[in-house]
Amino acid sequence: MQRDVRIDRIRRIVKDDYFRLSPRIVPANAVMSYRLTDQFRLFSNVSDILIEIVPTTLFDRGVQNEKIKTSFINGVAEFNVRLDCEQEYIFKLCDSEGEMLGVELDVFALNEDLLPLAPLKGDLHMHTAYSDGFELPSHKLAMARKRGLDYVAITDHNNFNGSLVAIEDLTKCPNRMIALKGEEVHAGGKDPGSALSPVHILSIDADYGVSFFRSFSSDAEYLELRNQLEAEFDVVAQDNPWLLGLGKECAIAEIEKARKRRLEILELADTENGEHPYWRADEFAYTLEACEAVKDAGGLCVLCHPMWRPITHRNTVNRMDVSLELVKRLLEANPFDACEIVSGAPKSEAGSNLLQERLYYESGLVGRIPMIGITDNHIANHDDYDLLGNNYSVVFAAERTARAIREAIEDGRCVAVEHYDGECARIHGDFRLSQFASFLIRTFFKAHDRNAAMEGNMMEKVLAYGDEIYSSILAHICELHASEEREWWGAAQSCFQIV
Ligand SMILES: [Zn+2]
Ligand SMILES: [Zn+2]
Repeated sequence: MQRDVRIDRIRRIVKDDYFRLSPRIVPANAVMSYRLTDQFRLFSNVSDILIEIVPTTLFDRGVQNEKIKTSFINGVAEFNVRLDCEQEYIFKLCDSEGEMLGVELDVFALNEDLLPLAPLKGDLHMHTAYSDGFELPSHKLAMARKRGLDYVAITDHNNFNGSLVAIEDLTKCPNRMIALKGEEVHAGGKDPGSALSPVHILSIDADYGVSFFRSFSSDAEYLELRNQLEAEFDVVAQDNPWLLGLGKECAIAEIEKARKRRLEILELADTENGEHPYWRADEFAYTLEACEAVKDAGGLCVLCHPMWRPITHRNTVNRMDVSLELVKRLLEANPFDACEIVSGAPKSEAGSNLLQERLYYESGLVGRIPMIGITDNHIANHDDYDLLGNNYSVVFAAERTARAIREAIEDGRCVAVEHYDGECARIHGDFRLSQFASFLIRTFFKAHDRNAAMEGNMMEKVLAYGDEIYSSILAHICELHASEEREWWGAAQSCFQIV
């Protein structure tokens, strides 16, 4: 059977899936040993081969590419190569005469700062039944894993509890996911279309709930909540268990602090309001106050959907989108740790992502805060609004933990990705990280997503039905997948351990 000849005739370039090459992500300027496996014996008639090393972006046109001699022995060829500098290289397989065999495999050489980091795909903005989302947190987690996500933050409107339930749910099932604490804080308080401020911000990985202490809109409501905390702390904590960690005295101090800030803003509103036709000083101040509250709680503060298009079938007096002038002023003041560039707009409105990116650049945020990609998913399996797994952020984290994901965002080791069905993935962010992410999306994440889908399907059965047989299979599969993914780096790395 002339299988190798067949590949040559159809002149097709075969990449991943047919051959297995390890490692694929290597240190720049170091000699590495590679192992190429012809998994399906496509080249059973070929033994001696040449591997041409084609650099993709940095090269000297006058210099011939290096060609490495090696042979397949029982379907495995081994060889050593040094890749000079940080970039993607194509390993092009040729026969011993130098004729191409139609097989290419991409390898990325990295400088030592990026090499030990784990690329993790995640979504830090989604809703569950703890606010106006459809699914319970456990269901959403399984769906997210099915769609290839490594980490999520459940960010219900003015509600911290859904994210804590998700973290708890993950302990009930073997998995390789990370859930972060989160909530979507409405700067104007509890009403969705608040007249105080329409701005939404994410609080990520805070120590405690932030919206809870900002949930009063009048003196009477403030007093009621404060008195409740004073007299019935345990009852209030039944619905908001994170309050127990904070303690009664701190909780009361928090709500007093929130009240004090409100009064300061009211004064500001009196003096400056009305001066600006397309934004109000108090809307601006409420947003800064919400950001301060998030930071006080130890959270990361993310500006949500800055170019959200109006929902015109709702009341447009208390509209929930934000006037552009206010957005511009907020980005100028920049109290944020990250900005949504890829938001949950359906494909027909995807242009708003590009406008968000333009605003980011024109506000001088490059190098200051990273762009992130999220879906704001409210219901998975919806025809127009289900982008779960399509839009996401890739962080480069020192380990698979919430803390490391947070540190990656704080350090700007993060890019935003929008990937509408049937289109190519668009990567937004730092050039160097984007270049590496582009390689990962074409190679590593394809394999990773297949593994994640398998895990997600089983997570759904375990979390929904408490199935113990699936649970033990899932534990084995997670280990297998972790070691498969480690192979891409070739060496055991702490960032790939299941924590
Ligand atoms: Zn929102
Ligand atoms: Zn949202």
